[in-house]
Amino acid sequence: MASRKKPAAKLDKYFCCPFCNHAGSVDCEIDRKEWFAVVKCFVCKETYSTKAHALTEPIDVYSEWIDECEKANQGVDVRRHRRDSH
Ligand SMILES: [Zn+2]
Repeated sequence: MASRKKPAAKLDKYFCCPFCNHAGSVDCEIDRKEWFAVVKCFVCKETYSTKAHALTEPIDVYSEWIDECEKANQGVDVRRHRRDSH
C-alpha cells in the first residue's frame, strides 16, 4: 500500500526558541503581500519581525532573530563598536 514515506517538511518552519530553549516552539510567518516576516514563540511569547523579500525563507528570519539575540546579549559593547559594522 502506501510505501512511500513523506519527508517531515512541515516541521522545518518550527525552530528552537533562543529565549526559553523550547524545541519547535517558534513559528514563522512570512507575509508576501506586505513583505514582512514574523517569528514568534508560543511558549514564552517572544516575537521578532523583519522585512521579507521574494527569497526569504523561515530559516532566514529565524537566523536573523538569533543574530539579533546575540547582539543584545553582548549589551552596550555592540553599540560602542558600531562604526566597525558593515
Ligand atoms: Zn520561547
